[in-house]
Amino acid sequence: MKEMYENLGISPQTLETGNMICRSLKERFEKIDENAEYNQLKVLNALRECRVSEACLLGTTGYGYNDIGRDTLEDVYAHIFNTEAALVRPQITCGTHALALALMSNLRPGDELLSPVGKPYDTLEEVIGIREGNGSLAEYGITYRQVDLLENSEFDFEGIKEAINERTKLVTIQRSKGYQTRKTFSVDEIGRLIAYVKSIKSDIICMVDNCYGEFVERIEPSDVGADMVVGSLIKNPGGGLAPIGGYIAGKKECIEKAAYRLTSPGLGKEVGASLGVLKDLYQGLFLAPTVVANALKTAIFAANLFEQAGFAVIPDSTESRHDIIQAITLSTAEGVCAFCEGIQSAAPVDSFVTPEPWDMPGYDAKVIMAAGAFVSGSSIELSADGPIKPPYAVYFQGGLTWPHGKAGILKAYQTMADKGLL
Ligand SMILES: *Cc1c(COP(=O)(O)O)cnc(C)c1O
Repeated sequence: MKEMYENLGISPQTLETGNMICRSLKERFEKIDENAEYNQLKVLNALRECRVSEACLLGTTGYGYNDIGRDTLEDVYAHIFNTEAALVRPQITCGTHALALALMSNLRPGDELLSPVGKPYDTLEEVIGIREGNGSLAEYGITYRQVDLLENSEFDFEGIKEAINERTKLVTIQRSKGYQTRKTFSVDEIGRLIAYVKSIKSDIICMVDNCYGEFVERIEPSDVGADMVVGSLIKNPGGGLAPIGGYIAGKKECIEKAAYRLTSPGLGKEVGASLGVLKDLYQGLFLAPTVVANALKTAIFAANLFEQAGFAVIPDSTESRHDIIQAITLSTAEGVCAFCEGIQSAAPVDSFVTPEPWDMPGYDAKVIMAAGAFVSGSSIELSADGPIKPPYAVYFQGGLTWPHGKAGILKAYQTMADKGLL
């Protein structure tokens, strides 16, 4: 074993440090496996109840009328998320697109959008118009209000009550921390927030940005009152196999609005050929609970290793998990770059390239990304990224298999050690 790790450039000393941490995590890993077992059964039962057949795995072309595989997959998602309907399409190009679609289809000029959990994910700033964006909600006369979290990361209930007015149509709640150092909300906390919002104005549509949260817990935000949950298929629910796509699951009325916006008024869900991707969307969903478990083990391992090395980690080594992201504050640009270099060089694809910070569309600072992935940009695969700005935190996520996750984290650690950054 030692030799295999040495081939990867990992010293016996680093390996021993890692193994010591692994031994201490046995019980937590067992709990994660139990969760995966529960969610595996949830997915399996949905596939059975929706009578997924071999024919569902084939695709259509052209208009895609009567695409039984596509329609059944949407039914499967609705079962898993406990919603009336779902829109799951390869034509939804990414998570930002899915979120923009949910917002733009359910808001009308004169409506107001409220984020009661502080600033949303960077790429949504241009969608909303917080930063100028071509075709933003702001351009269509949809206003935006934000209530920041309190210092201790709790909801500002008083502030939220004051912000809600007769124009407030939709509330957007981001489950995961994204590129911030706040904590990620548990599904229970989100449920309490939704109940509070609805107690003030019952017809507000509550949407949850569910990116990176799927299958981490046994329930999803749609089990606790969310009208829409939205996410990317090249994150958790695609299980590493989905080559593209996004989903929106929720109330029938919300999903129909989204479908008419995605395709066209009059057409809605009826068109949209699935081409050849359905088998991967189904099989990826089937694998997703265990893949998410592997990613969680990798994140917890990283938290423990880097906390022991003296870095601030969010969540910390013992906290409960509500998404697969691990933030590690490395405090320097060099640290962020070295960490990403290590992850990249332990990747199954493009292990020989060195990642460089670049001006990524949609972000306001340079971002460095390590992703040697089978699906380009997939962040359910072992990947790390960080904006090159204070507090110089790296956000690390994914790991299709736990052994690969462990190797990747050890390699990141070793790269920092080799550069004298530990
Ligand atoms: C990844 C992510 C998005 C955007 O998804 P993309 O697929 O990168 O467009 C939005 N919100 C959160 C919380 C995310 O993690």
